Amino acid sequence: MSRSDKKRPIALLLAIGLAAAFAYATLPSPSSNEGTAQKGNSTAGTRFVVGPMARGQGDYRRFSDIWGILLHSTQGVPSGDLRLLSRSPKLSAHFLVLPNGTIRQLVPIARVAFHAGRGELDGHSGNLNAGLVGIEVSNPSKRGRNVPYPEVQLKAVDRVIKIIDDRLGRQVPIYGHKEMIRYPGGWRKTDPEGDFPLKAYKRYRRHTGP
Ligand SMILES: [Zn+2]
Repeated sequence: MSRSDKKRPIALLLAIGLAAAFAYATLPSPSSNEGTAQKGNSTAGTRFVVGPMARGQGDYRRFSDIWGILLHSTQGVPSGDLRLLSRSPKLSAHFLVLPNGTIRQLVPIARVAFHAGRGELDGHSGNLNAGLVGIEVSNPSKRGRNVPYPEVQLKAVDRVIKIIDDRLGRQVPIYGHKEMIRYPGGWRKTDPEGDFPLKAYKRYRRHTGP
């Protein structure tokens, strides 16, 4: 064995080690294509999945045109909610948050989704979809029927809001669909329904206080 022969296995091991370290460092985050999970236990049990992409997608827009996040509840069940929001040409949302803590992104934030419609909200009027990011929370509550929102689902909503904040690079105000006055007729939707902690989201951007 010559001197160079002795060196070769060491060089090879070094190369393998470096390659492994590089591969590990460049592994994509398992959590998402958009943003990363919050540190700590606050998003434990939640999962971020891109797709299926919605049929109902509008124009591309600038992030600077986005002025709010609009929270909804579906008044439905997960399978039906996913089917409707992904297949309808007229109804969609950027995110659907399921009771098991899974977040599905159905529309890119950079495109308009169809969840708000025409009306008035906080000084904005007309077709409000263009300036809003829509989050549908899958929950069957409706007037006279109150179904609790599981903790893991609310953690997932917290996580979506963090993802949106990170993507936009700023924090836009959070609204509930029921705060919007709808055109024509000036009527209001009633969602998010039931015990959804809308006030906490508006104040703290998550379902619990500090
Ligand atoms: Zn709604």
